[in-house]
Amino acid sequence: MRGVVFDGKQVQVVDDLEVRDPGPGEVLVGIAAAGLCHSDLSVVDGTIPFPPPVVLGHEGAGVVEAVGPGVTHVVPGDHVALSTLANCGACADCDRGRPTMCRKAIGMPGQPFSRGGRPLHQFASNSSFAERTVVKAVQAVKIPRDIPLTSAALMGCGVLTGVGAVLNRARVGRGETVVVIGTGGIGLNVLQGARIAGALTIVAVDTNPAKEAVARQFGASHFLNSTDGVREILPTGADHVFECVGHTGLVRTAIDLLDRHGQAVLLGMTAPKAEASFLPAAMFLDKSILGCRYGSSRPQRDIPLYAELYRSGLLLLDELVTATYPVEEFARAVEDAEAGKVARGVLTF
Ligand SMILES: [Zn+2]
Ligand SMILES: [Zn+2]
Repeated sequence: MRGVVFDGKQVQVVDDLEVRDPGPGEVLVGIAAAGLCHSDLSVVDGTIPFPPPVVLGHEGAGVVEAVGPGVTHVVPGDHVALSTLANCGACADCDRGRPTMCRKAIGMPGQPFSRGGRPLHQFASNSSFAERTVVKAVQAVKIPRDIPLTSAALMGCGVLTGVGAVLNRARVGRGETVVVIGTGGIGLNVLQGARIAGALTIVAVDTNPAKEAVARQFGASHFLNSTDGVREILPTGADHVFECVGHTGLVRTAIDLLDRHGQAVLLGMTAPKAEASFLPAAMFLDKSILGCRYGSSRPQRDIPLYAELYRSGLLLLDELVTATYPVEEFARAVEDAEAGKVARGVLTF
């Protein structure tokens, strides 16, 4: 079968990939569509260290082809969106509704794939850039059949992370004020999360003026090319500032833009050893800085919720998919993503 493989030096689309059958508690999914996220490229450029060879891709949707022993929540033929959260479901963190904190969910990549008898790692417990993949039952979330799989493909990373950060982590309240720094795939989902939560003033900031129309479409009430103008719109600061770029200077800016009792939510990925500075004295006024992994999501609850919000017209998915590419054109999808031409490119199989 076809798939996108990174061997440690280069990325190539291969057609001789194999995947094993699902074992107990696992699901074999035929991937229909998979979103190209910046994290896939971070594996290639080394920002995210991951053992090669690896099959890339970590947000996708498709059709269940087979289930292993003990799996009852999906059956062959069901449409599913895949999460990257291979949480155990049995530890104290899973039990208290914090599957993103499960210590068994990261750092142990499986090797369900092979090529010419040689095993390949699975990226983010997912590897959606393959015609078929094997995931844990908890990762396969059933979705209604009327949702296009090219749109559903985006739920598993960008939507869970961005909308989840607003609803689950920041818990933005009706009428509150929000600033979103960076309007890429995550930032746009933060914008629509803020709109869904009922935020009143939603300021999007992006250095690229071409992002204004899409930012407003997703929920921004104001658009700026620099954070310099935020105080003119929100003189006392914002209740919530989301940093979606991963720049230490902007982390500081996010904190400086907080109103009393405000919170800065850090979503952008900075370099592992990068340091940011801020004035601790300014935090005295009940301010907070929040980290957030994967939108603090509970995928089996959140994805069906987002599916219903999509069906009711509140959550935009189709609008995120600005281009689709047959998997063979992976290189062109990367070029377009790096040139900032697309909100999200989606590979199809
Ligand atoms: Zn991602
Ligand atoms: Zn667990």
